[in-house]
Amino acid sequence: MAGEPQDDCLFCKIVAGQVPATIVRETETTVAFRDINPQAPTHVLVIPKAHHRDAAALAAADPALAADVLRETQAVADEDKLESYRVVFNTGAGAGQTVWHAHAHVVGGRGLQWPPG
Ligand code: C5P
Repeated sequence: MAGEPQDDCLFCKIVAGQVPATIVRETETTVAFRDINPQAPTHVLVIPKAHHRDAAALAAADPALAADVLRETQAVADEDKLESYRVVFNTGAGAGQTVWHAHAHVVGGRGLQWPPG
């Protein structure tokens, strides 16, 4: 069922404390942790605690929770004192999504090119 923890989901396991992560912020509904393979000085993932397979499914099932995730991306940027940064939701394998639990990448701390690859 949408939102329920999935046994085979890595990010559900991070939410449950079963897989270690460097957590930088936690709210009632979200967790933010440093990406294990950072692509920039700041590379933090913000995830909803509830399981949704991607950003589109999250926005459709629970818009308020999607807003919580977006609000937390701003909080992460503020904590790392980023003047400019990028928020990315890779959605679908063709866009590079590899973990099927919705997550926002917050990337900053260096110059960023546009368009992304
Ligand atoms: O958008 P995508 O699904 O590719 O992003 C998944 C991200 O999760 C990757 O950037 C990867 O480095 C990160 N990851 C992590 N901790 C893990 C496994 C993956 O931060 N234990």
